[in-house]
Amino acid sequence: MSDAPELPKSEEEEEVTPEPEEQSDDSSEGEAAGDEDMDFLRSLFSRTLGLDSADKVLDELTLEGVARYILSGKCKNIICMVGAGISTSAGIPDFRSPGTGLYANLQKYNLPYPEAIFQIDYFKKHPEPFFALAKELYPGQFKPTICHYFIKLLKEKGLLRRCYSQNIDTLERVAGLEGDDLIEAHGTFYTSHCVSFCCRKEYNLDWMKEKIFSDDIPRCDKCSSLVKPDIVFFGENLPVRFFTSMKMDFPRCDLLIVMGTSLQVQPFAGLVGRVSKSCPRLLINMEKAGQADPLFGLLGFGGGMDFDSDKAYRDVAHISTCDDGCLALADLLGWKAELEEMVKREHDRIDSQDKKEKAGESKGATAKTSSASVAPEPKKEE
Ligand SMILES: [Zn+2]
Repeated sequence: MSDAPELPKSEEEEEVTPEPEEQSDDSSEGEAAGDEDMDFLRSLFSRTLGLDSADKVLDELTLEGVARYILSGKCKNIICMVGAGISTSAGIPDFRSPGTGLYANLQKYNLPYPEAIFQIDYFKKHPEPFFALAKELYPGQFKPTICHYFIKLLKEKGLLRRCYSQNIDTLERVAGLEGDDLIEAHGTFYTSHCVSFCCRKEYNLDWMKEKIFSDDIPRCDKCSSLVKPDIVFFGENLPVRFFTSMKMDFPRCDLLIVMGTSLQVQPFAGLVGRVSKSCPRLLINMEKAGQADPLFGLLGFGGGMDFDSDKAYRDVAHISTCDDGCLALADLLGWKAELEEMVKREHDRIDSQDKKEKAGESKGATAKTSSASVAPEPKKEE
């Protein structure tokens, strides 16, 4: 029994909650929108008509082959797609996936079934379990991983088109990616909104943090409705930027790097099929993922990964942790020392910031220590 009208479920753009401030991306993309649309149409038609040529771009389907391609100068637009696996070495459990230890720990909240804690209708009636869990798992108690900083390094090298993340831990932002570099497909704790559709007042991370740590159920100071972090609950729509950016980014992608995700959640998983047929795809994960269903493959709904068949020509699987895989790739690129230096410098900075905040706390400040609060200010998304 929600106090807000249920949004109709339909395809892609119709499926998103209107949030005008997020409609436009950055201005350079606005100017290039015509070209981008043409690119999109071209790639759509060529895919539909089977004209999209499947050129072999990598000289070898290995991490070395990928590194040589990046260094060749022909690879200018890299998209990263990342999931919970990139944050596990930071100590963050993969808490949205049933079957992880966390769901087993939810018994104390008397949920009708574990996933209810992330279900929007349940949340509107019983917000307490979610906020109790949010306190335990609060983003900002953790430091970004080597993998997060590798993505930051791609940005500094001018190679990152965008990072599509399924994570809600804000570690990409803590690592220095800005709002524009990032699509938080499943939302973020970084901002919160009043759940009332008539109000939708926005609240920042500090405001929400204060409520969560004082065990207050966050309520809107304008209309008294619940205030919810902007993470996407089951039964909610993905952010509108996910769909608008996806159409612009994937047709021009030169290299897709998929890390720490088993590619099982749609529509995120389907993104791997949106790059051109010539675009190499590198998976760094503990197990192979995203492979084409043989049945769907036969029916022509391609797009799945093919690492091993005799037709394989562009997909590379590097089976390792995300951190090890990124270090290995950085080594092949000649960036390893730079990456390790960046990790050390940034972790030192977060530690010293934490110490300062703790010192402030002992003097009577109420804000709880959080490394998220030392994230560089994001660029305004206009
Ligand atoms: Zn409100």
